Amino acid sequence: MVNIEEIRKEFPILESRIYDKPLVYLDNAATTQKPKCVIDTISNVYTTMNSNVHRGVHHLSQVATTAMENSRETVRKFIGAKHSHEIIFTRGTTESINLVASSYGNTLLKEGDEIIISAMEHHSNIVPWQLLHARTGVKFRVIPLTGNCKLDIEAYKGMFNEKTRLVSVTHVSNVLGSTNPIKEIIDIAHSNDVPVLVDGAQSIPHKKIDVMELDADFFAFSGHKIYGPTGVGVLYGKELWLETMQPYNGGGEMIKSVRFDKTSFNDLPYKFEAGTPDYVGIIALGKAIEWVNSLGIENIAAHEHELTRYAVEQLKTIPEMRIFGEPDGAAVSFLTGDIHPADLGTILDRLGIAIRTGHHCAQPLIDHLGIPGTARASFAVYNTKKEIDALIQGIKRAVKMFTQC
Ligand code: PLP
Repeated sequence: MVNIEEIRKEFPILESRIYDKPLVYLDNAATTQKPKCVIDTISNVYTTMNSNVHRGVHHLSQVATTAMENSRETVRKFIGAKHSHEIIFTRGTTESINLVASSYGNTLLKEGDEIIISAMEHHSNIVPWQLLHARTGVKFRVIPLTGNCKLDIEAYKGMFNEKTRLVSVTHVSNVLGSTNPIKEIIDIAHSNDVPVLVDGAQSIPHKKIDVMELDADFFAFSGHKIYGPTGVGVLYGKELWLETMQPYNGGGEMIKSVRFDKTSFNDLPYKFEAGTPDYVGIIALGKAIEWVNSLGIENIAAHEHELTRYAVEQLKTIPEMRIFGEPDGAAVSFLTGDIHPADLGTILDRLGIAIRTGHHCAQPLIDHLGIPGTARASFAVYNTKKEIDALIQGIKRAVKMFTQC
C-alpha cells in the first residue's frame, strides 16, 4: 500500500494552480513529475561534486565517477541485468533504439535482411528502421493488429524466415495503454534464433522488469518517464551483442588508444558512451529509482491499475464515449462523440487538467484506427480518484458545450 497524500507532498509542482484551478496532471505517459529528492540531487551534484567523470585523478572527479557508477549498479539491480557493463547510458529510449539500429544494423545486417516491428510502435521504433533501410536496404515487416487492437500473435509466428534478424516491439502501447505478451513474443523469436529489442518506455514506470527472466536481448527506457530527469535513458543489452556490435558515436571515453592509422575501442559499457555523459542526470536517475524502490514497484502498479480501472469505468458512463484497445496499465485513450481531441484537451486545460491529445507519436496506429487522434489520460503513483472525477466532470462540461453549439 502507498500513502498517496504523503507521496504528493514530495512533488512540489503538484501544488501548482493552472488558470487558478488546482493542477490535475494526467500526462504521465509523456513525462512524469519529479520528487523533491530527484530535484535536490541535481542541485547537490552541482553544488558538491561537479566534475567531469572518468577522467580526473582529483577528488571531485572520483566522487562524481563513483556516484555515476553507483547509479549504473542501481539500474542493473532494478532491471535484473547480469552485469553492470550491460547498462549503457543514453539520452533516452529514442537514442537507445537508434543505437541498436545503427550499431547492430551496421555490424550484423545486410541488404535483404528483415526486422519485425509492430503496428502499434512509437515513431522512435519505426523511423530508425526506415533510416537503416535507406542506408543498407534492410527491410522491416509489421505485425498486424487483431480487431481489439492486440498484436496478432498467429500472424507474427508466420513472419519469420531465414532472413529475419531482429524483432523490435513495444512492451506497453503508449496510445492504448495495453501490455503486449512480451515473454511469448521473445520466446517465439528465440525459437527462430532471432534476438529481441523491447521498447520499455511505457513499462518501466509501471511494472517489475527482469531482463534475464524475460530473456530480452535489448531493453530500452527513458529516465524522465520514471520520475527521473530528462535527457538520460538506458539501453540494456546482453554482453554477447554489445561486445559484437561496433560503437555508435566516436569520441572521448569510448577509446583505449587513438592513432591516426588505428583506434582501439574501450571496454563495455564505455565503448557506447562517447563524450561527457550527462552524469548529473544519471546520478539523479539513480535517485529516482531508489525512490521507486522505497515505495515498491508492485505497490505503484497496484495503485495505477486501480486508477485505470476506475477511469475506464467512469469514462464509460459518458454517452458516445469510445475507448481504444483494452487498457491494462496506466493510460487510457478515448474520444467523445465528434469532439476533436485537440478541442477537448484545450477545454480541459482551462480547467487545470493536463491530458495529451493527438497521434502520440504513433501515427500508423492512429491511421489504422481511422481517427484524427485520441485524448489520452495517463497516471502515475501520485494521481488520485478525485483527479479522475475532475477529468470526468471536465469531459462532461465539454460535451455540454459542444451539444449546445
Ligand atoms: N517508445 C514509447 C512507447 C514511448 O511512449 C516513448 C515516449 O513517449 C518513446 C519510445 C520515446 O521516448 P523518449 O522521447 O523519452 O526517447
